[in-house]
Parts: sequence; C-alpha cells; structure tokens
Amino acid sequence: MADFKLTYATMFNPPEELHTGFDKAVEKLKKNLGREYGMIINGKDVMADEKFDDHSPVNTDWVLAKMQRGSAKHAQEALAAARAAFPKWSRTPWQERVKLLRKAAGLIEERIFDLGAAMALEVGKNRMESLGDVQETADLIYYSCYQMEKNDGYIVEMGKDPLVGYDARNVSVLRPYGVWLVVSPFNFPFALTGGPSGAALVAGNTLVIKPATDTAWIVRLLAECFRDAGLPDGVVNFVTGPGSTLGQALVDSPEVNGVTFTGSFDVGMKMYQDFAKGKYVRPVILELGGKNPAIVSKHADLERATIGIVRSAFGLQGQKCSAASRVIVEEPVYDELIGRLREATEKLAIGDPTDRATYLGPVINKSSYNDFKNFTEEISQGGGKFLTGGHVKTGDGFDKGYFCEPTFVTDLPFGHRLWQYEMFLPITTIGKVQSMDEAMKIANSVNYGLTAGFYGSPEETDWFFDQIEAGVTYANRPQGATTGAWPGFQPFGGWKGSGSSGKNAGGHYYVPLYMHEQIRTLVK
Ligand code: NAP
Ligand code: MG
Repeated sequence: MADFKLTYATMFNPPEELHTGFDKAVEKLKKNLGREYGMIINGKDVMADEKFDDHSPVNTDWVLAKMQRGSAKHAQEALAAARAAFPKWSRTPWQERVKLLRKAAGLIEERIFDLGAAMALEVGKNRMESLGDVQETADLIYYSCYQMEKNDGYIVEMGKDPLVGYDARNVSVLRPYGVWLVVSPFNFPFALTGGPSGAALVAGNTLVIKPATDTAWIVRLLAECFRDAGLPDGVVNFVTGPGSTLGQALVDSPEVNGVTFTGSFDVGMKMYQDFAKGKYVRPVILELGGKNPAIVSKHADLERATIGIVRSAFGLQGQKCSAASRVIVEEPVYDELIGRLREATEKLAIGDPTDRATYLGPVINKSSYNDFKNFTEEISQGGGKFLTGGHVKTGDGFDKGYFCEPTFVTDLPFGHRLWQYEMFLPITTIGKVQSMDEAMKIANSVNYGLTAGFYGSPEETDWFFDQIEAGVTYANRPQGATTGAWPGFQPFGGWKGSGSSGKNAGGHYYVPLYMHEQIRTLVK
C-alpha cells in the first residue's frame, strides 16, 4: 500500500489490503453495536435525560448506537466550556496546536477501518466512499496545519512608517475569534465536521460541534480522536440533539463568535439571518447545496463522459452536494450518450454498502425515501421519462432499508421546477440542447454555483472555465464529472447560493477565514 494514496479519484482501484482491513472492521463492529454514547462537554461524557436510537438506513432493525437528545441547556454548557478554554488555547503557541492537530489526524488515519465501517453502516456509503470520507478528514486537518506553517503563523512584518527621529515597527498578526460553532450535514459527517474543526482549532479558536442527528454516532467517534490526541478539556465540545432546538439555541447565543455551517440552503440562509441579529457582525461560513451541471459537447469523448457522469450522479446515492444532478447534452451526441449512460447504470450494484460489490447503498432516512417516491411521481406527471430506475427497491435484502434505484430522467422540459430544485437523491435529469451557448445559459440559470463538469474539445474547455458560474470545475475528467474534490488538489466551495465566503475549504485562503487581523505598531 506504500505507493497508494486514497482519494475520491483513486478509490476505484484500491489495493487489496483496503478491502481486507475494511471487512475485518465490519465484522468486529457488528458484534459491538448499540452502545450508549454521551456528549462531550469540557472533556467529560455528558448524558441527557432523553436519548434516541440511531438506526442504520441499511436495515432499520440495526440499532447502531444510543445517543443523547441534548437540549438548550447543553448548548449553554458547551459554549461556556469552550469560552473558558479559549484564553489558554488561543495563547498556546501555534506550533503546539499544529502538533496536537497532526496527532489527531494521525489517530483518524490509524482508526480508518473502524471509522469507515461505522460510516458505511450509519450513512449508507459504500466502502470506498466511507474510507474516503475518513481519509479526507485527516488530509483536511493536515492541510490546515501545513498552511499555518507555510504562513509562519500568519505573522507578517509590515513596512516602517517614514517617521523622522522615531523607529516604529508594524506587524500584522491574525488572531482567533473565540468560540466557533461547527454544524455539519449527514452526507460527509467526518470531513465536513473535521475539516472546519481543524481549521478553526489550528487558528486558535475553541469549538462546539453539532452533527446531523442522522450521523451523531460517527461524529462522536471523530470527537474522540480530538480528545484522545490530547487536546485540552473544553477545546472541543460535542453536543447532539435536534437542530431545531439545541442547534437553534447555539445559533441564537451571543457566546458564539463565528460559525461554519454545511448543509441545505434553507437551513443555512435561516441561520445566516438569525445570526445577524447579534450585537455586531460575526463571520458565517456557509457551505450549502448544489444543482451541478455536466455539459457534454458534440466533441466530447463519450466514454469518459459516461463514466464521469454515472459516478457523479449516483455516488453516495446522489446525496452529495457536488452530485451531477443535471446533464446537458449537445444534440448530435445525445442519443449515443444516453444509450451509454443506460448501459453503465444498469451495471451498478445496489445493496448493503459494506459489501464489496455495492456501488449504491440506501438513502439516509425515511423522509428521503418518501421524497424519492414523490419526486419520481412528479417527474412522470411533468412529462419526464425514466431512462433508468424510477422506483424504490423492494424484495429480499431491501425491505428493511431505504434503497432507491439510480434514476436518469429524459424529456423533462427545462422549465420544470425539478431542473432547479436540489432533490438530493439518485435522480438526474438529462436534457438536449442545440448549441454550447444554450447549454451554458441553462447551466448557469440556477440559484446554486457549487461544482460543474464539462466534456468537449480542448478549445472549448477554456470557454467552459471562463463562462461557468461555479466554485469547483472539471473538464474531461472520467473520475467524476462534478464530484471527487480533494484537499490540496481541488479546494472545495461554492458561488451564489452554494456558499458564503468565496474561499474554498482545503485551499490557500481557508484558514485565515477563522481569524481577524490585528496590526501592532510599536514606537521605540
Ligand atoms: P440540513 O438538513 O440543512 O442539516 C444540516 C445541519 O443543520 C444538521 O446538523 C442539522 O441538525 C442542523 N440544523 C437543522 N436546523 C437547524 C437550526 N435551526 N439551527 C441549527 N442547526 C440546524 O442538511 P443535511 O440534510 O444534513 O445535508 C444535506 C444538505 O447539505 C444538502 O443541501 C447538501 O447540498 C448540503 N451540503 C453542502 C456541502 C458543501 O460543501 N457545500 C457539503 C455537503 C452537503 P439535525 O440533523 O438535527 O436537523
Ligand atoms: Mg441513522
């Protein structure tokens, strides 16, 4: 495995050790399901009066863990613990923080199989996607450490004032804001909790983490990596419970100095507005939804386009913010492309995501499963045709989970609302256009601007990069038309309704978002 580096682009052909390690971990984990886990506040396990069972979407009879239904009171306690830990942590030399965070990332890597197995059972991700999410988390943390070092702690000597008779030194320093809130989604519960957490912590902030209720267990296991790495008590606090109560109490608190929210547009926009009701403006990093187009020109390599589009449409059952949920094809290659897409999709295996052969596991919960039924019905009524799929899976092995067929839709008029709406399911609409200009107009005609893919000639790719309104863009990539970004290679973030900071995670400009600048002028 020495030469192999796991990323979302390399995961299609992993060495055998990855499979055997994963299989062993699943076997071991399945014998140990159903334990109770606390929240972590000021380094201690904290139990709430109310609990909830965390069921697997693969088979809802499987209770993975018993978790705490925390309340507004726990939100206050966690914030108080983070506040108390801030003075010391923020004044800990950044080199020391880097050391501790590298240790946490190292623990994540050491535990990758156990964590990947838990992820597959809780999220329903296939094994390579699960291992990928865990490795990406370690890499995001390493990347923030690297940026801190490369920028020498963000301490910069400025010019000297031209003062006659005085010697003045001017230094710019970036300093942490204080208590940072990280609210994360179910679909990349590890990377989208650990990535922002790593950046906030290396910058010197202390944290309160609130995971999605569907993925409370796996994020608890992440919080344990920070704890076990030796981060001081109170630096990372972890609370679980409903977004609408515990989450809202966190957002409404004046004790929060900054937020990173990754999730849906509606929840994120509401959070942005609620957070703005504080006494002054505080930073809000939002990473929101997507409605990502893959554009295919008549000059495209259709083999590459097919592989890339199928992977991005149906990886993680279409529940990626970066999923290729719209395919826009130039007329001369339309028939051939949809034939190829059908053929490739029919080969995808659906089932238990821990099985080696599985590409699609279940969708996350009953509500998403019901959405699938409703959207497919709406598509039929709106004139759409199912090139593939269109139904939930029934029968042996499927009846206790939330399995949906990978569904490509053709003939749905571009004016239909589902060309605009993020369904967040394995449903991708395909449309035909007469020119590349028409394709681009449609591609940009949504509220989102997260990722985008293109297949065409080299001359066309410059035009694509220049014209497309999106934060992460790919041309002629078979590893994924719109998905598969990796820290340090493809920093990840969105334009328009897909994000707020204009700077991508896992990139050059990310860590400074977690600090404010102070200029220090000292006259000798
Ligand atoms: P979601 O429903 O918006 O929930 C995200 C998080 O917000 C959860 O932890 C949720 O907790 C919490 N929450 C809900 N209401 C809240 C409130 N009033 N105050 C504070 N927190 C609240 O999103 P999701 O279904 O988990 O994830 C899917 C969405 O995330 C999609 O739209 C996807 O595109 C987006 N996403 C974006 C990116 C990106 O990088 N741009 C990456 C991944 C996913 P509960 O679970 O307890 O409700
Ligand atoms: Mg669950």
